[in-house]
Amino acid sequence: MKLGLILFDFDRVLFDTGYLLKKLGLYRKRDERVGGFTLRQAQKINWQKIGIENLIYPEVKQVLSYFSHHDWDMAIFSEGEVAGQRFKIKITGLDKIFLKQFQLVYRNKKIALPRLLKELKPRWGQIWIVDDKPEILKIAKKVLPTIKTVLVCRGPWWQVKVSGFAPDFKIKNLNDLRRIIG
Ligand SMILES: [Mg+2]
Repeated sequence: MKLGLILFDFDRVLFDTGYLLKKLGLYRKRDERVGGFTLRQAQKINWQKIGIENLIYPEVKQVLSYFSHHDWDMAIFSEGEVAGQRFKIKITGLDKIFLKQFQLVYRNKKIALPRLLKELKPRWGQIWIVDDKPEILKIAKKVLPTIKTVLVCRGPWWQVKVSGFAPDFKIKNLNDLRRIIG
């Protein structure tokens, strides 16, 4: 029996979106440029030149390995153009860490969340959600009050105020999850 399930957002949580923007010369522009990232755009990029090994944050693989060895299931819970997001998951090698059925990519997370959490709830005792967008965490908590919410303070989005909500935990680095989730 697994201890529970951890849902990891992709951009700014596992994937260093800021690094990619900088490398593409889009650093000052809005995040949507990558949020709206398409497979077509992805195929035009010289990924070797970007430095694939820098696309995920340095602690990611170690932290994921820790939780998988401590009986946690883990899923990527991401949004955007589905083919584009899947491309990013694949190029970082994270498709080899997360089983196919745990690569959850949707066009719109806000719409997908209620149904998804209802599906997942009976299968895992405890569910955690780790995201840099307070709005997503707020919806998750509303749909499933027993969920534990972790706000990752990276990039521009975590500072957006949402009324009537505070995350259970705030972290700057995924290493902090070991202390929190144990
Ligand atoms: Mg994100």
